[in-house]
Parts: sequence; structure tokens; C-alpha cells
Amino acid sequence: MTPDAVNFSALPQECDFVALDFETANREWTSICAIGLAFVVGGQVVANPSWLVRPPQLVFDPGFVKIHGITADQVADKPEFCELWPELRPYLEGRIIIAHNAEFDVNVLIQALDLYNIPRPSAEYSCTKVIAQRTWPGWKRYGLAALAERHGILFRHHDAGEDANVCAQVALRACREKGAADFGALHETLNITRGRIYPDGHDKLREGAVTLPAFGPWEGRIHSRPEQVKRQQRANEIEDATIDPASATGVINGYAVTLADCACADFKGRKLPCKHIYKLFFELNKGR
Ligand SMILES: [Zn+2]
Repeated sequence: MTPDAVNFSALPQECDFVALDFETANREWTSICAIGLAFVVGGQVVANPSWLVRPPQLVFDPGFVKIHGITADQVADKPEFCELWPELRPYLEGRIIIAHNAEFDVNVLIQALDLYNIPRPSAEYSCTKVIAQRTWPGWKRYGLAALAERHGILFRHHDAGEDANVCAQVALRACREKGAADFGALHETLNITRGRIYPDGHDKLREGAVTLPAFGPWEGRIHSRPEQVKRQQRANEIEDATIDPASATGVINGYAVTLADCACADFKGRKLPCKHIYKLFFELNKGR
């Protein structure tokens, strides 16, 4: 994980967003030992630099070393965060930062800046975990490794540069899945208000309510009942589905399904959407 030679002045001033990942040496937020960035322009990662960093104290918790493989020896002669900051700042100032579990990385950034008495930049931020949960509802796991696997992206997890790159790729796939023209439009579609960092403070990201719309004979509010949400989650695990978009019908796990009716026992007993009806609805709306 050697620092890529990145000539910042060669990067366009305008970018879609910058993915950020920190690794830390121990439980202290400020114990940064690696930083990865992925700078995205026009839907492509155009730079993916990473740095090894000497934390303020050379104290490495063995549990953390096990996760990222970085040891005190590897960073003893590396710059501290405050020395790297002049190089990092142009990547982040005035931009949209994204991270997986963004509150962690944003807190690390803010606390490290505060530790060294460095003024905070102005930047917006978003979280690919929240984006993924809303883009692909009902998946079992939303960790970075699980998302990478699901999207067929090979990477070495907990390498800061690779994590930042995967984070960027997940965000770009969410844009494509939702047909969002840009990253701002994706947030509108998903009802996420980006967080903000500014010199005197920090506003957290806000997640607006998500409910399925009314469809077939069903009112929208039915879908937010907890027992219905469970069926929506199970719907995403179904693999045996043949869908006919023209007639909005399907054969799912062997049952004949329409948006209003299913042949399964769950539907016959409750007369509320079963997992097969949700599966049909999700399949018909894919990519919208
Ligand atoms: Zn059913």
C-alpha cells in the first residue's frame, strides 16, 4: 500500500464525489494508520490514492492489526495526519465525501483535525451503507464485503485504498440501479439528506421515511407494517421467479402471482401481500 503518485492539479476541479476510508490503530478515533480515497469524475474513479499514516501514539491493538494487517513498524517513519493534511485537503474541501458507515469516518476526520487544531473543511457527506439499504432493500447484509460480493467486485477488505474504491463502486451502481442522473438525484430518489461538515460544526446525515408506494389494490401504508416489511425482506431472497412484465404476472416459487393475488397459503390466509407479490412488484420495478 504505497502512496500513489497523484498530481492533484491534474484532477478536474469538478467531481461527482470522493470516497474516503480510514483505518485506525486502536479504539481511539484519532489513531489513524491508513487513509484511502477514490476520486470520482463522470461516473469513473479517476484517482485512488492511499497513504500509511503514523498515529499520534504508536499503539496498535492486536484486534485491529488482525483486521487491517498494519503494524507499528510499517508506519513508524510515515507522516502523521497533520503532515498529510495539506495534501489531502484539496481532495475534500467543498466536495461530497462518501464513506461506508460514514459517521465513523466523519468522526475520525473531525477528531483528528481537532486534535491537531486544524480548521475543518466545508464538505457534504453521505453513507454508502444507507444508500445500499435503500437501493437494494431486503438484503441480509450491508457490510462492504457483503456488498462487494453481491456485486461481483473482488478486493482486499480493510486496505484503505481498496475499501474507498469499493465504496465508490457501490455508490455508482446505486446510481445506475435507480437511474439517477447524478449523485444529487440519487439522494432525492432515496430520500436521504446529506450530512455536512463545516468549520464550526457538523450536521448528521438524515434518512427520510421510505415506504413502498400503493400498487395493485394495496394502499401504501399497508407496506410499512412490520409483518409486511418482513415479507419484503424475504421477497429479496427468492431466486425462482419467472416474470412477465407485459401482463404484470409471474410464476414465483411455483405459485401463479399477480400484484393483487397469489396462490400461496400465506396470501389465501391473510389476504395481504405475501412475499411472492412483493417479489413480483420488485421485479416489475427493477431499474426504475
Ligand atoms: Zn404468495
